[in-house]
Order: sequence, then C-alpha cells, then structure tokens
Amino acid sequence: MISGGLDSMLATRVIQEQGIHVEGINFFTGFCVEGHTHAIRRQDQKKQKRNNALWVAEQLGIKLHIIDVIEEYKDIVINPKHGYGSNLNPCLDCKGFMVKKAHEWAVENGFDFIITGEVVGQRPMSQRRDTMPVIARESGANDLLVRPLSAKILPPTLPEREGWIDREALFDFNGRGRRPQIALAERYGLHDYAQPAGGCCFLTDAQYSAKLADLWQARGNREYEFDDIMLLKVGRHLRPDPGFKVIIGREEGENHYLEGYRKRFTHLFSPSHPGPFALIDGIAGPEEEETAARLVARFGKGRDADRVAVEIHSVDGRDRTIEVVPLSDAEIPQDWYL
Ligand code: SF4
Repeated sequence: MISGGLDSMLATRVIQEQGIHVEGINFFTGFCVEGHTHAIRRQDQKKQKRNNALWVAEQLGIKLHIIDVIEEYKDIVINPKHGYGSNLNPCLDCKGFMVKKAHEWAVENGFDFIITGEVVGQRPMSQRRDTMPVIARESGANDLLVRPLSAKILPPTLPEREGWIDREALFDFNGRGRRPQIALAERYGLHDYAQPAGGCCFLTDAQYSAKLADLWQARGNREYEFDDIMLLKVGRHLRPDPGFKVIIGREEGENHYLEGYRKRFTHLFSPSHPGPFALIDGIAGPEEEETAARLVARFGKGRDADRVAVEIHSVDGRDRTIEVVPLSDAEIPQDWYL
C-alpha cells in the first residue's frame, strides 16, 4: 500500500531487497491533499504538483495501481465504527477499509501478501500496538498483512513463518521519531521523499473538518458528493445565516476554479472593481444575495469604495446588477467564518 510518504516507500524497498516482486496500490478517497489545492491556487504554482504515490512507485521501479474508492469510502467517513481522531479523521476504520480493499485486490490478482509502511506507535489512532491487530483482523487480511518496518516487534506473519520473507532482515521501528526511517532512507540512497510522513489527508485538518461538519449540519444529513468535498478545499467559506453560505475565491486560481461551478450555484462578481468570484450555497432571497454581494465587495479591490457594483447570476436564470456598500470588517461577525 503506497501512500506517497517515506514509510511505505521504505517498507516496499525492504521487501524488494529480498528479491520479491512488489506492486503498489493507492486509494483515491477525494480527501487527498496532494495535487488539488496546489494545482488550483496560483500562489502555490511553484510548489510541487507531483502525485507522490506515482513518484514513489517510479523511484522504486514498481507498477502502481490507483483505485478510486470515493463512493465506498463515504460510509467510512460518515459512520466510522471506531469513531474519529482529533478531527473528522476516521483513521482506524479508514486503515481497516484500505487493507480490506488491498487484500481483496491481492487475492483477485494473484498476490501472496500485503505490505504497509505502518510503524508501531507512529500515529495516535491507527498505528498503536493495540490497534494494529484490529486492522489486520477487521480487514480480513489477518497474518497476510506484513509491516516490514516494525515486524520484529510484532507477532510473525504467515510470510515470515513460511520463510517467504526473512524476518531477520525486517525492522523493529517503534514510536513517533523519524530518525530510523531517515537513516534507512540514507542507506538506500533515497534523498527525495514527501515531508513530513506523507499520505496526509484533509480529514486530519481542523479547519477542513469544521467546514465538513458545517455542511452536514446545514443540510440536515451527513451525506456528501465529490464536488462538495472539493469545494471545501477552495476559497473562504462564510455562513451569514444557517440557510446559506458564500464561497469566495481568495485569488485568481480559486476564482477560475469556482467559475466552473457557475451553472450549479448562484454566483457573483464585481464588474466595477477587480475582486473575487463567489458562489452562494443554499437558499438565498434578495436580502441574502445583497449580503453576499457586500461580502464580495469587501474582499475585492473596492473594499474602501463608497459603492461597488456586483453582478448576481441566479441558478434560476435571474441576472441583476446591484450597487452595494462593502461590508466593513466590524460588520462581519467572526462566527461567519467557517
Ligand atoms: S489520515 Fe486520512 S487517509 Fe490516513 S488513515 Fe487517517 S483518515 Fe485515513
């Protein structure tokens, strides 16, 4: 299982060193950090936009299978049996789900066992001595799940007992420290890898989780579509009223991205002053639209102007231009910001 981080890269390499053929599997949940926001935001243009999982596979010389699990993964996010971590990250259920999928894939494709980069004690929820066996058990992979970086402090798995792999050549990494991994990377001559551990996801982010919780609360259910979770990654989100929120582009790249949604949402922008493109998510009448227009004016170059023109294009085909006074910062309550 290749996340794109250093640990799964090392785990794979350790097994490859034993002359074993390895192929990588990576799951696309929709919450992956890499690629999306860096690709959208103009100010992030200089940041690497590579897909780290593909990069790792290329470095290791292995084939990578990227599996779209967006639909199936919803149930993990919405109803995690083991609950959430410090934000809306259902790490234990998530790992169990991914190992289960990897196991099914391995069986279907004639592979003998699964390798992950998990390290005992590395993560507070899914990589603890007491939770790692839960993942092995609940995924159905049981002792076909090998964690080469911590294998020596875990019970021997079937591939070790049967001698398919040499347990003595595996490792005993333990705890949150990264030194042993970095030393091993040096030993293998691997100098370029994702920092910190890679494989991060938006669900571990407090701000993102707050926006997702708000979305569920506003809709009265805990469903989501792929577009919803993408939009939560983009723009400023302000909710002036339980019935609607305004998503305001923070820069050119985000404005362009939001424009792609103009057929699905009432949208606004100012023709008189350069500034953001914004979407209204929810039900908004003329009064709410005016509030949204005043927000658009506030975050544009006309924020100090007496009046700013704002075009409002409703999804029902109503188009109008109104002149508004930009909201002042004092008029925007902090709790509007999600
Ligand atoms: S951080 Fe995200 S991808 Fe990683 S185990 Fe937790 S929920 Fe899953």
